[in-house]
Amino acid sequence: LPVVAIVGRPNVGKSTLVNRVLGRREAVVQDEPGVTRDRVSYPAEWNGVPFMVIDTGGWEIDARGIARHVAQQAEVAVEMADVIVFVVDATVGATDADEDVVKLLRRSGKPVVLVANKVDDVHVEGEAAALWSMGLGQPFAVSALHGKGSGDLLDEILANFPEDPHSEAGRVVGGPRRVALLGRPNVGKSSLLNRLAGSERVVVDNVAGTTRDPVDEYIELGGRTWMFVDTAGIRRRVHQTRGVDFYASLRTQSALEKAEVAVVLIDAGEEIAEQDIRVVQQVIDSGRALVIAYNKWDLTDEERRHFLEREIERELVQVPWAPRVNISASTGRHVEKLVPALETALESWDARIPTGKLNAFLGEIVAANPHPVRSGKQPRILFATQASTRPPKFVVFASGFLEHSYRRFLERQLRERFGFEGSPIEISVRVRE
Ligand code: GDP
Repeated sequence: LPVVAIVGRPNVGKSTLVNRVLGRREAVVQDEPGVTRDRVSYPAEWNGVPFMVIDTGGWEIDARGIARHVAQQAEVAVEMADVIVFVVDATVGATDADEDVVKLLRRSGKPVVLVANKVDDVHVEGEAAALWSMGLGQPFAVSALHGKGSGDLLDEILANFPEDPHSEAGRVVGGPRRVALLGRPNVGKSSLLNRLAGSERVVVDNVAGTTRDPVDEYIELGGRTWMFVDTAGIRRRVHQTRGVDFYASLRTQSALEKAEVAVVLIDAGEEIAEQDIRVVQQVIDSGRALVIAYNKWDLTDEERRHFLEREIERELVQVPWAPRVNISASTGRHVEKLVPALETALESWDARIPTGKLNAFLGEIVAANPHPVRSGKQPRILFATQASTRPPKFVVFASGFLEHSYRRFLERQLRERFGFEGSPIEISVRVRE
């Protein structure tokens, strides 16, 4: 999905604008120093076009002050967004901090939509027009609070979306597949990327049908070209003491938006951490395919490997289906096994089970293991179909409500029969009376 980032100084009305764009009020809290939000991106829609809004204002303002704070937001936005919305308080005008950010935004070459907010009544309109001088084109006069001008603004945002490079339809058959390298800091993402790129780097101009985003890197592996998304953030170490978690999860979210499959790196030499589990969960929630790479295998001894297996059983129970590779980015051990794992995961992600085959199979397992009878009733499974791929989603029609444990049973059976190694799958049940 196209990604829209909202940037601006505190109190210019970013949160109100985000809520306005989302069309609801619960989502985003007001700018409050010290409040770190756990959600960083929100699904939105305008005129039937879905997109993501990322809210870059979630980390604390540190000692270096507001100018630095806004610059950080802008850097993140430049790296991650397809369209940047830069919000200025029209009643205050452009400040020095704003001017610095403008330079950064202009250099980025990304489309920027300038919003003059708080134009609640006519005598602020002149103020809004004065923002032409910022050199970002037409300022959109908006009152986020009252909703004025937000329709025109959304039209303008949509007009700047790229031509659907990440959609299913937009994917070139046989073209590069998109991979996100994820994991907490120091797990070895950058080392792995270097190791992989060492194999063969592809000149970007030679890749047909791709958008040339300098933050992505094309690498040839196992006879095909792979696109590693958002690599700028991996290569350029971000030195930041505050809001690190927030920043990290924002980056993960944005990379997942662009990717088809994620490699989550976990440090085999250290205990599995809360943050590792969170990243894995983010991949599942995003519906992307997943491979888990245990890195720094060279640092493990027999005892550590023993404990690692116990930790995996305990902490990563939700992803027994993810292909696993034990690698060392620094020695190169088993790094070549990543490619077949990625191929497997993507194959599962793309898979479609024909309706006839699916129902024949369901018939068998339901006959052998019928749903338990509850208060004298037994729901029957009538029919199932795969509604979509990438990832596979199934709809099961039943004559009554299916218990959670039975749905889990169906999922396990589906996986046992059809595999889906490396892909999340989804089963929804519709009750037909
Ligand atoms: P990133 O923050 O995830 O990009 O991690 P880096 O690639 O920068 O790696 C962090 C540190 O771990 C560096 O000092 C690397 O040299 C080291 N490192 C990365 N992979 C391995 C590995 O497989 N084995 C060992 N022993 N060290 C590694």
